[in-house]
Amino acid sequence: PVYESSSVTQPAAPAVPTTTKSLTPATLDGYGENAFWGASAEKYLVKQGLTTDTLRDPMWVKDMALADKIAAAVLEWAVDHGANTFCHWFQPMCATSRHGQTGQIWLRGDSIFIPACFVAYTGKALDEKIPLLRAEQAMSREGTRLFKALGHSIDGLLTNIGLEQELFFIPSDAYYKRPDLQMCGRTVLGRSPALGQEGSTHYMAPINTTKSVFPCMQEIQQECYKVGIPLKTRHREVAPNQYEFAPMFGHVVGQIDQNLVAMQLAAEIAPKHGLRALFHEKPFQGVNGSGKHNNWSLSTKCGAQLLNPEEITKRMGDFKVFPIVMAALISGVDKYGDLMRMAIASPGNDFRLGAMEAPPAVISMYLGEDMTKYLTKFMNGEVMEYIPSTTDIDLGVSYCPKVTAPAEDRNRTSPFPYGGHRFEFRAVGSSQNVSMVNTVLAALAARQFKEIADRVEAGESGVAVAQSLLKKHMKSVFNGDGYDPGWPVKARKDGLWVVESGVDAIKMFTDAKNTELFSSLQILTPEEVTARQECMLAHYILTVETEVLCMIDMIKQHIIPSCKKAGVDDSACTTAMSEMESALKAVHAASTADGATMCRTLRLEKMRTVRAGIDELEGIIPAEMWTLGTYKELMFID
Ligand code: ADP
Ligand code: MG
Repeated sequence: PVYESSSVTQPAAPAVPTTTKSLTPATLDGYGENAFWGASAEKYLVKQGLTTDTLRDPMWVKDMALADKIAAAVLEWAVDHGANTFCHWFQPMCATSRHGQTGQIWLRGDSIFIPACFVAYTGKALDEKIPLLRAEQAMSREGTRLFKALGHSIDGLLTNIGLEQELFFIPSDAYYKRPDLQMCGRTVLGRSPALGQEGSTHYMAPINTTKSVFPCMQEIQQECYKVGIPLKTRHREVAPNQYEFAPMFGHVVGQIDQNLVAMQLAAEIAPKHGLRALFHEKPFQGVNGSGKHNNWSLSTKCGAQLLNPEEITKRMGDFKVFPIVMAALISGVDKYGDLMRMAIASPGNDFRLGAMEAPPAVISMYLGEDMTKYLTKFMNGEVMEYIPSTTDIDLGVSYCPKVTAPAEDRNRTSPFPYGGHRFEFRAVGSSQNVSMVNTVLAALAARQFKEIADRVEAGESGVAVAQSLLKKHMKSVFNGDGYDPGWPVKARKDGLWVVESGVDAIKMFTDAKNTELFSSLQILTPEEVTARQECMLAHYILTVETEVLCMIDMIKQHIIPSCKKAGVDDSACTTAMSEMESALKAVHAASTADGATMCRTLRLEKMRTVRAGIDELEGIIPAEMWTLGTYKELMFID
């Protein structure tokens, strides 16, 4: 079945808690006290003759005399707060969700964490952060040029994101009975229980204050608040034991750092509550996996929102800015959708994308009928202001006020729907560091801003350029049902990017048009692109290899002994193991590129067949002879 990986906020909890256990509600007391920012930093900065404004302009990093003063302030602050250790905190490539990676300086326990970049001796970027910083710079530079060409002077552009983080909380004791969760973060075996997510029994349940997850989530929120992460939203999600957190949105660089910190805090705090936090995109077969919706928008540095038609029109005094920006983004997605697909090609996303689980592996964007109609008219010469239509919803109850509905609902079957003032990249995986995702989005925006700016500077009008881009690229706008089995077929015919295999998408990273994009904007050199691709493929192979070895161990150490005890035929297990072992040998003998393709087949075909057989055995072996944690034990606690 195809389930939507949605994130509707759950209905209100019952007013009266059903427990006598006292809970400490997450409060804003001490908000940001463990982040070197604002009020918590003020006293120490003032002592150095500085103010909190000093930190707002990142150029301080380059001014050695100033940086020394700030360092002295940080040191005094940290020591006052009990720190005796410091850590340069960077974001390595292909790190798993369990390892923390880097915005602002923050403190936890006895250590201060100082966000850092990581380069090779040769100066080549080896981390997730440098390309992101370069891409933001390129987007701001080219966007400012575009605005100037259109007759508007702005102070630069920036990306804002808000990340909805989905995850599972499972009981620690059952976790320790699952070698696959410990080694791979996902179950490679496991029979589906009688009840899954059908009926939304977990999703729509009230916050259950008697069980461990709620206090755990409160503590995670509280610890996030202390380091200045506004992790404001919390709710249940579709699959049993699945939950979600979301912060208030902000600048992309800080948000990514904060997301990584929040994940790390969740991973650390859950065990205190007898739980484990799972960030894998697909820990359990048969129920939804987890995503990390990357809500994405652009604004001027002084805060005018480019994707809010009414606001940008008012602030610029020019209604043409909005359709021109939209033309840039539509053409960017159409030209570089393969890179968007590449950026979400994490091994875990194999099971969510590409005919496995929605959103589909077709990169398209949803604008809604209202805006699509407007842009189509604009493209065909009816140049006017976009005023989104709204409707009033009447609940039919005399004392309930009317609710104003926006022009469009969000389309949850689209990988990149417009959601009112922002796009939501819904296909992003839950365990990902979203730096590459945002590097690609900033790069494609920069590239198209540059194209329009160049052409306007050469004498064309902004409107004419936008019209020609729309004519060529409107095909990437798709407002229909992304789960419709006919859509990928049609999309391919229309010339959209349909890349089912994540491994194939990674291989497209080095296509000439893509290396040209990154190098011409000074985001990544061709060598850096190649190195990154190699890392991603090697990481994929390592992931699959671990999964296969783990499966073999589980068969040997658990499944076969259980079968023997129960007197059930286990001959299929032996055959399966030798087939998987020889498949791994073949991978080792191949190149990285071929090996990754072979691993994908091994994982999505062979391992699935083996698993199906074993899951059937689980159904007939008496429970007391089964030594692995079951889906029932892993997924039904709350
Ligand atoms: P959903 O309805 O998709 O579940 P949530 O409220 O869970 O929405 O999360 C939406 C996320 O999008 C939040 O992190 C929010 O701060 C962020 N967001 C809202 N507006 C913007 C915007 N203009 N730019 C970037 N992010 C935004
Ligand atoms: Mg949500």
